[in-house]
Amino acid sequence: MTEFIPPAKPLIGDEEREAVDRVLRSGMLAQGPEVKAFEEEFSSHFGLDRACVAVNSGTSGLHLGLLSAGVKAGDEVIVPSFTFAATCNSVALTGATPVFADISADDFCLDPAAVEAAITDKTVGIMPVHLYGHPAKMPELQAIADKHGLKIYEDAAQAHGASLNGTPVGAFGEFAMFSLYPTKNMTSGEGGMVSVASAETERLMRLYRNQGMQQQYHNEVVGFNTRMTDIHAAIGRVQLTKVGAWTATRQSNAAFLSANLEGVTPPPVADGAVHVYHQYTVRVPSDRDGFSKALREEYNVGSGMFYPVPNHQLKPFQVDVDLPETAKAAAECLSLPVHPSLSQDDLERIVTAVNALAKAGA
Ligand SMILES: *Cc1c(COP(=O)(O)O)cnc(C)c1O
Repeated sequence: MTEFIPPAKPLIGDEEREAVDRVLRSGMLAQGPEVKAFEEEFSSHFGLDRACVAVNSGTSGLHLGLLSAGVKAGDEVIVPSFTFAATCNSVALTGATPVFADISADDFCLDPAAVEAAITDKTVGIMPVHLYGHPAKMPELQAIADKHGLKIYEDAAQAHGASLNGTPVGAFGEFAMFSLYPTKNMTSGEGGMVSVASAETERLMRLYRNQGMQQQYHNEVVGFNTRMTDIHAAIGRVQLTKVGAWTATRQSNAAFLSANLEGVTPPPVADGAVHVYHQYTVRVPSDRDGFSKALREEYNVGSGMFYPVPNHQLKPFQVDVDLPETAKAAAECLSLPVHPSLSQDDLERIVTAVNALAKAGA
């Protein structure tokens, strides 16, 4: 049997190991100079032109970002249902209600018309997710936000380096969160990085991250311990030097797949959008689950389903709302391997397998 092609693979090299060792030998392990340097390097690497605040996970980043932006019980935040549960969990953890809007068929991201239809007098913000590494329709969403006096909060967990008309994701919203979980385009082990639009949001983020204090024993608000450690920051700083090359490889892998796949719908890319292919997601028109199983069992090719159950059908968020594009995507989407460790041989095996299965199913 040929070797298994995994759907994702974190890349850790000697440089990351040496960086961790350097921190361990320093004897200073908790949040310190490595975190500060990582925050500054992250902002400049992605051209965000804003302050960044590092935390212990992407989910913490969303939660603290929302609290810092003033989101509270009784408020509503419009979110896609077709996303990872962390998007909705972070809204619910503030006491606010996540209100689900449908996605557009052409980018798997929030549909601006559906967002506008979901606005009530309790709505305070919109949280687009740049799903799979493709930017959401930011100009349209920003226009709606401006018209109704709402804030934009970006879930950029999957979109390090993506951009729209030359503006990087993470530079649009009141805040934006990038996840540093191991399967994301770059990692710190666990972690999250939040870019912030205003000095006040930044100040509050830093307070919430550290028990509500900037200065020891001068607590200003009720806070958390959601600090990043210098050990994790050291890994992230090394990964920052590599993520550009990895993204270019993801993009060329995606180009090869899109040029050669037949019988499935490849992921569209909007005009002016730079897609960073956290996932390379196709639509399988019928029996997606059987297709995925056959890829694994007959061809030893891994794949992923992100996300087979929309959030509005998960127990904590269950609500009766009709989201036809969300339902369709949840039934059809299949993410094929696109990560930078794939060889040309792997890519050809993926194409052969997908095309054979699509033909057999047709
Ligand atoms: C990974 C992810 C998160 C959460 O990030 P963590 O670092 O795992 O907490 C949030 N939203 C989306 C869309 C994600 O993919």
